[in-house]
Amino acid sequence: MSKSIQAVRGMNDLLPDVVARWQRIEAAARTALAAYGYREIRLPLVEKTELFARSIGSLTDIVEKEMYTFEDRNGESLTLRPEGTAGCVRAGIENGLLHNQVQRLWYTGPMFRHERPQKGRYRQFHQIGVEAFGIDTPDVDAELILLCARLWRELGLNGLTLEINTLGTPEARAVYRTELVRYLESRQAELDEDSQRRLHKNPLRVLDSKNPAMQGVIAGAPALMDYLDDTSRQHFDALRGYLDAAGIPYKVNPRLVRGLDYYTRAVFEWTTDRLGAQSAVCAGGRYDGLVGLLGGQPTPAVGFAVGLERLAELLALDAGNTTDTQAAQAYLAVLDESVRPQALRLAETLRDQGLRVEFNCGSGGLKAQLKRADRSGARFALLLGPDEAARASVSVKDLRHGAEQATVSQAALGDYLKQRLA
Ligand code: ATP
Ligand code: MG
Repeated sequence: MSKSIQAVRGMNDLLPDVVARWQRIEAAARTALAAYGYREIRLPLVEKTELFARSIGSLTDIVEKEMYTFEDRNGESLTLRPEGTAGCVRAGIENGLLHNQVQRLWYTGPMFRHERPQKGRYRQFHQIGVEAFGIDTPDVDAELILLCARLWRELGLNGLTLEINTLGTPEARAVYRTELVRYLESRQAELDEDSQRRLHKNPLRVLDSKNPAMQGVIAGAPALMDYLDDTSRQHFDALRGYLDAAGIPYKVNPRLVRGLDYYTRAVFEWTTDRLGAQSAVCAGGRYDGLVGLLGGQPTPAVGFAVGLERLAELLALDAGNTTDTQAAQAYLAVLDESVRPQALRLAETLRDQGLRVEFNCGSGGLKAQLKRADRSGARFALLLGPDEAARASVSVKDLRHGAEQATVSQAALGDYLKQRLA
């Protein structure tokens, strides 16, 4: 036998039991997004490298060292998308969706970053991204945060913490940046290797360091909040007012920055203390400059992305939290070859009534079929043999609650099962 081939490191298979949890998240997200008037857009996984270099910023970790970039057969440089906002903005401009319009959009799918794989951090991971274009006022920032809160509620997650901050305008940030660099230089000996590297390239990112040894230096850094321009401050205060009025608790974290260059003004992050080091489940903020930067008419914009692996991981901690909407509800066992045609018809009739029925294809005695029925996860085993067939009935066995076996007429079976499942 030849050696089997393994998946690429950091790129995971999601097996059916795990997918059940993902589907629950996706269904809840679809409902929540529709409740606010957000519409789905589907975007390519591959874009021109230039798109990310220009939007994310060439000095960010992503563009410097995390992108899957390759030349296609025509020698054009292409990149597997490391995030979704750039592609969404590109599509919005290209298809005339953004100029002088309000657009509320969302998308989901895999993203690719060449990071060091560990729990909660993968090379192919998945996001739900949500973007609102054409609205300058902080009510839409609040709306996005309310949307997140609704999704967590819907999923039964209540341990998430909301942190908010404002990054100000690029002009205000430039002044702050100078002050920050001056401060960090004064404590250069205490900076770890990553922070040394970021010091002159992307100093704000030093504030984002997860290294415990760096926290003292970070705590002493000047606060961006003290360098804010008036409009950014008003925007931020208004956002806080809306969150207070809506009863959404939050912490102002003056050290909260984003790894991407294109953010301006309000930024936010939802974190958990239940997942170890990879604690951010959702991150977002305003990026009013990006549409213009990518060649569109200047358009205000704000959005966020949810990390689905981390969210699914969080849901998994609360066992019994997911019903598998793919698993069969009933398993139809065929006790004699002579009744197989009738059994096939019966299964179809039940499916017509909206039930999920797994049919025992192939052979097997009663014992083997009941074992399969159990493994299928179905609540009921339906037994059809010559006796039942002759009386147009079925024997129904509850596999989960140890109740007596019942005989039910085939005509009434669908309603009977639905009633018992309700
Ligand atoms: P982190 O600080 O954890 O690296 P980030 O700032 O790079 O996150 P964003 O680009 O803002 O993350 O992405 C939004 C969300 O996507 C994150 O909050 C996280 O939940 C998820 N995410 C980001 N990178 C990964 C990854 N490599 N593997 C799994 N999930 C990820
Ligand atoms: Mg990152």
